[in-house]
Amino acid sequence: MGKIKRIGVLTSGGDAPGMNAAIRAVTRTAIYYDLEVLGIRHGYRGMIEGYCKPLKVHTVSNIIQRGGTILKTARCEEFKIPEGRKRAYDYLKRRNIDGVVVIGGDGTFTGARVFSEEFDIPFIGIPGTIDNDIYGTDYTIGYDTALNTVIEAVDKIRDTASAHNRLFFIEVMGAEAGFIALRSGIACGAEAILIPEVKNQVSTLKDFLENGDRRKKSSNIIIVAEGEEEGGAYEIARKVKNDFKDYSIRVTVLGHIQRGGSPTAFDRVAASRLGYAAVEALLDDQKSAMVGLQNNNVVLVPFRKAVKLHKDVNRQLLEISQILSI
Ligand code: ATP
Repeated sequence: MGKIKRIGVLTSGGDAPGMNAAIRAVTRTAIYYDLEVLGIRHGYRGMIEGYCKPLKVHTVSNIIQRGGTILKTARCEEFKIPEGRKRAYDYLKRRNIDGVVVIGGDGTFTGARVFSEEFDIPFIGIPGTIDNDIYGTDYTIGYDTALNTVIEAVDKIRDTASAHNRLFFIEVMGAEAGFIALRSGIACGAEAILIPEVKNQVSTLKDFLENGDRRKKSSNIIIVAEGEEEGGAYEIARKVKNDFKDYSIRVTVLGHIQRGGSPTAFDRVAASRLGYAAVEALLDDQKSAMVGLQNNNVVLVPFRKAVKLHKDVNRQLLEISQILSI
């Protein structure tokens, strides 16, 4: 008999479409291998306060297509202090939980890593965040859905922008990284993309708009990542407006629509593969690691690397975006 008989699963940090598909895959794979599954609600807070419910095959029926997370998610300051983690450990012990699958972003994995150094219960992570900013995986669950949501919205804005010859600044999520901005910008044919990874972009943007041909265009869409160092979309629009008084400028902040919606096929399949792999990893006595996708293969990446190393945007995509927006 293996050591693992009962596992917990939780979602933590920002929610992302596809988290439910991952919960379903973890639950069903575990049950397939005769394990019991407890769904821990409200992220790490649920481990401390003891919010938990058994998950069965039928509990996770009809959720693969739903955004959000049936387990709820939360940010939990108490898990950042040793006393909080000790309470979480005591609870897991009391409930005979032998391993935990955590679905979340780098904060969630940082917590899992710290916990793994202190206690003997193995944790395996599934990258679930729309930001795609986790080292060691090409994609995080939710990113593809968020991209498609952005594209749909920007296409609509393009229609109205063209009708009025307007210059639109559209802010997308990405407080510290430009993954959503870069890829959605290319997919929407944005005229410019401003991301935190590239410095001094406002002056480059002004040069770009100076170009005579550009002024003949019926619309200009500028995608701005929320974490752009020179300000969000409103601030950048203000800076540009001062120099281009003849442009009709509008700003749209897409906000939380990017987090919601039914996950795309890509996110559902990725969540299913990674959920399955996470349970397999626990059964293989793995711990303190994330399951990720690299070149379409499932890989195991230690939390140590996933949270410490920086994932850069694809610089070639940046170049392509500039060439294609001439
Ligand atoms: P997203 O990328 O969508 O924001 P995330 O997982 O990075 O997701 P965070 O709010 O950063 O979201 O982290 C989620 C939770 O992980 C925190 O609320 C906290 O409970 C735990 N956590 C984060 N950092 C640490 C840390 N240094 N030590 C212990 N726990 C942590």
